[in-house]
Amino acid sequence: MNLILLGAPGAGKGTQAEVICEKLGIPSISTGNIIREALKNGTEMGLKAKSFMDEGKLVPDEIVIGIIKERLAKDDCRDGFVLDGFPRTIPQAEALDAMGVVIDKVISIEVADEKIADRMAGRRVCEKCGASYHTEYKKPSVDGVCNLCGGALVRRKDDAPETVLERLQVYHEQTEPLKDYYLKAGKLRLVEGQEEVADTSALTLAAING
Ligand code: AMP
Repeated sequence: MNLILLGAPGAGKGTQAEVICEKLGIPSISTGNIIREALKNGTEMGLKAKSFMDEGKLVPDEIVIGIIKERLAKDDCRDGFVLDGFPRTIPQAEALDAMGVVIDKVISIEVADEKIADRMAGRRVCEKCGASYHTEYKKPSVDGVCNLCGGALVRRKDDAPETVLERLQVYHEQTEPLKDYYLKAGKLRLVEGQEEVADTSALTLAAING
């Protein structure tokens, strides 16, 4: 099954992508994580993306489309995948179509802007494997330590409150039109983000299977 997760920054796409990945046994592909990894390794692509990312802006389409092309060509995507954070613009969605990638369903996780700022303030990510946590809603077993790999949990630079506002604006202007794009294609399913992560996961899995 080929899936896309849509939603505002902080709506919980990453967490739901991890759940889907575990339940369906398909890889979860996050362009944000791939870019952060490239940045850590000091690659040319990472350096090109850095200033956009730090300011809460989108990285240019040709860079992320290149990333996705390369990633989807790998063997582990043969039986399906879940895209977390791609596409984020109409040209990115069109590029996916042009690659001949057939998407089965697009799940949009809906969370009001007012709730997002609160969620982002408590969000922590593993600096080693990218898994996401929350100081209130999704605590790790040991404070500050990733359950999956033992890496340190840190706040992302672009989760600073002023950057979050910019990212929300970018989401509404450039990414939200994708809902209409996939609605017209008959692929869109809306999931209301719940207080409890497990409740959102149950709705997400039901939307995928329904
Ligand atoms: P994320 O981890 O998905 O929240 O992504 C973090 C940042 O990476 C975004 O704010 C963008 O700067 C960049 N990014 C990730 N995915 C994309 C994409 N599909 N298109 C453009 N920029 C992206």
